[in-house]
Amino acid sequence: ALAATLAVFDGNGGTADGHLVPLLANVGGAADAIAAAEAGAQGVGLLRTEFCFLGRDTEPSIDEQVAAYRGVFDAFPGKKVVVRTLDAGADKPLPFLTDATEPNPALGVRGYRTDTASPGVLERQLAAIATAADGSAADVWVMAPMIATAEEAGRFAAQCAAAGLNTPGVMVEVPSAALMAETILREVDFVSLGTNDLTQYAMAADRQLGPLAALNNPWQPAVLQLIRLTVVGARAEGHHTGEVKPVGVCGEAAADPALAVVLVGLGVSTLSMTARSLSAVDAVLSRVTLDQAKELAGLALAAASATEARAAVRAHLPMLD
Ligand code: PEP
Ligand code: MG
Repeated sequence: ALAATLAVFDGNGGTADGHLVPLLANVGGAADAIAAAEAGAQGVGLLRTEFCFLGRDTEPSIDEQVAAYRGVFDAFPGKKVVVRTLDAGADKPLPFLTDATEPNPALGVRGYRTDTASPGVLERQLAAIATAADGSAADVWVMAPMIATAEEAGRFAAQCAAAGLNTPGVMVEVPSAALMAETILREVDFVSLGTNDLTQYAMAADRQLGPLAALNNPWQPAVLQLIRLTVVGARAEGHHTGEVKPVGVCGEAAADPALAVVLVGLGVSTLSMTARSLSAVDAVLSRVTLDQAKELAGLALAAASATEARAAVRAHLPMLD
């Protein structure tokens, strides 16, 4: 059953049997967005808004932010653009917002947590996103990084509503959020798995440390279990309402073709990646059925190590050799 089928490359982000998986792009600015649209991205799954803030001593004005966001939205008329609110701290320090002297920056006041320490920056950013969205044809969604609790998700949803933004979501990149996905999805409309940080926090291995690269691997079965639990939580939440809310992936894992198949098999609904990986991911997805993807996900989950998980899956995807 796992033998690769030979469906032709069709470029529409679906499996061989027609299960659609929109392939979106991770972008960090208008130039990126234009290139991603040209590469065939079906929208933006992660707009890293840090591009507008990094390398500055002061917060950009609302007008500057509106212009920057509009440049991205304009590249995707009629398409979804998921804007991530400012993710400062740890690997993305910002002099006017984060404290470089924290003993453990990755566990510190970063991402959404900066809103409590420095109120106002997020509120102004949400106002800028709402203004840019108003004047554009893109379907703008907004999500917060580094959410650890359902309470934070609910608070973020209220802040989005106050700004007139009506599709709030959160990133699942802290293991607590993966475990609490059902409860979190009662508060927001979607989640997006940030597998870079989810791996770092699940494995307690700093993503910036080269010597820990073997631990910092999204093929780690523990990471795959957290992804599975997120989907299970979303389905449980959807069971009560009749509609399962989207669970996307926007970490580097989505750009690895074999791992992308596993993610689809685990039940994620969209994959967002660097634009240059779109065609390779599309090509492999179009050659497996959803049932084959589920079987491969099962093999990866049952493996004893990241190396074994990857080898077990790759053995069934000879077109990747
Ligand atoms: C992630 O953590 O997987 C992610 C997409 O965000 P970043 O790499 O910007 O932290
Ligand atoms: Mg992250």
